Amino acid sequence: MTYDFDLFVIGGGSGGVRAGRVAASQGAKVALAEEYRLGGTCVIRGCVPKKLMVFASEYPGFAEEARAYGWDMQIGDFNWGGFRSKLHAELDRLEGIYGRLLDNSGVTFFDSRAEVVDAHSVRLADGKVISAKHILIATGGTPTVPEFKGSELAITSNEIFQMTRLPKKVLIVGGGYIASEFACILNGLGVEVTQFYRGAQILRGFDEEARGLIATHMQENGIDLRLGVNVTSMERVGEHDILPPEYGTHGPIKVCNTDGADDVYDLVMYATGRAPNITGLGLEDAGVAVERGAIKVDAYSQTSVPSIYAIGDVTNRVNLTPVAIREGMAFVETVFNGNPTPVDHDLIPSAVFTQPEFGTVGLSEEDAADLEPIEVYATSFRPMQTMFADKADKVLMKLIVSKATRKVLGCHIVAPAAGELIQLAGIAVKMGATKEDFDRTVAVHPTMSEELVTMKEPVRST
Ligand code: NDP
Repeated sequence: MTYDFDLFVIGGGSGGVRAGRVAASQGAKVALAEEYRLGGTCVIRGCVPKKLMVFASEYPGFAEEARAYGWDMQIGDFNWGGFRSKLHAELDRLEGIYGRLLDNSGVTFFDSRAEVVDAHSVRLADGKVISAKHILIATGGTPTVPEFKGSELAITSNEIFQMTRLPKKVLIVGGGYIASEFACILNGLGVEVTQFYRGAQILRGFDEEARGLIATHMQENGIDLRLGVNVTSMERVGEHDILPPEYGTHGPIKVCNTDGADDVYDLVMYATGRAPNITGLGLEDAGVAVERGAIKVDAYSQTSVPSIYAIGDVTNRVNLTPVAIREGMAFVETVFNGNPTPVDHDLIPSAVFTQPEFGTVGLSEEDAADLEPIEVYATSFRPMQTMFADKADKVLMKLIVSKATRKVLGCHIVAPAAGELIQLAGIAVKMGATKEDFDRTVAVHPTMSEELVTMKEPVRST
């Protein structure tokens, strides 16, 4: 049987584009369809614009420190309009690069939605049916907002980059990565930020000591973080133009909440999780199994239909860009190079770009202690740079060590540039380094991270 293509990729985000162009560069005839913009969540409305906003939001803090170091300087006002134009120009540039990468590797691009018809064909929005030996679904995920009275007034991380001006006062709901990062970003940009989290502490699932330190600093930095609080209803009480008209009518919103203290906010942003993009993809008709709202795949990203694979957030395994890319590369290796390659989802380092930043790899103290006897090595201190500027900020360096094997099971860093630090510590942890391997590494002095190799006595053991 001959097909129009060897591979048809649905979704032009990080995972889909990488898989498509690597398969094409190895000789496969590849097509890719994307209904919105090439680059997907990460490039267009996720990691990249978020990180640029993190950078923008950090300058007031740097200026304050600079004054303490003797610089006679004032930060002045933040020009959101100027920043926004540059931000979107940068996203356009990156989208262009993604298009050229596909082009240069010979991938046929369809600027269209595509849906699965059966095991070997997809249908484009104009009704055209295209056949392919393999289909790769890489449609990502989308933010979800719970339903309650007035929930349609909430915006999500999809809209936040479109603001025409900064709000004066926002409410952020949620306690995960996105809520906590945006609370810090907007606070840094001078917006009055309230964050509601329904549980006892933000960043559930991460190391408790690290979560506590981050939450304390967020509050000290001016975020009104309210734990154990949730929204009960919302009502628009005016009209404003913070979002462009195509995003509907927005206005100041009166929010009623579980602690009874109602308040009015310019914007309410919900960051209460994301769901895989599976709606209307034709999965049921094609016989592709779905489990708990995500496409069910095996270790090789193969679905219940042998010719159809799925990678990235649509499979809801570990929802991070570099993981989707890994899954895409493993798929190509498996299907086009005859080398079955499972994806290794163990010991993935990651960072939460809060202020302070958090880098983490491996098990939290709590999870490790549930599994086996451990030693905890941890130190929390005021780093040289900010202490000189009379700031109260503390950093945390923490290692969780197995008593039986001496292996470092987890490394948790709360500190400036913790994302950069954990990338490197992650190599050692992934290699199975022991506490003694860390100890025989000479300290780099004077740095914050030298503490990772100089902690002599455990602070706790179980
Ligand atoms: P998360 O799943 O991380 O967090 C969702 C938050 O919303 C939790 O605090 C959850 O509370 C809360 N929540 C869920 N439902 C409700 C509800 N009905 N009412 C009130 N609160 C609710 O999702 P995010 O949206 O923050 O991020 C999605 C994914 O994106 C992450 O899992 C991550 O993989 C990825 N991401 C990674 C980033 C990075 O690497 N730096 C940055 C941004 C996103 P509870 O804890 O009680 O369940």
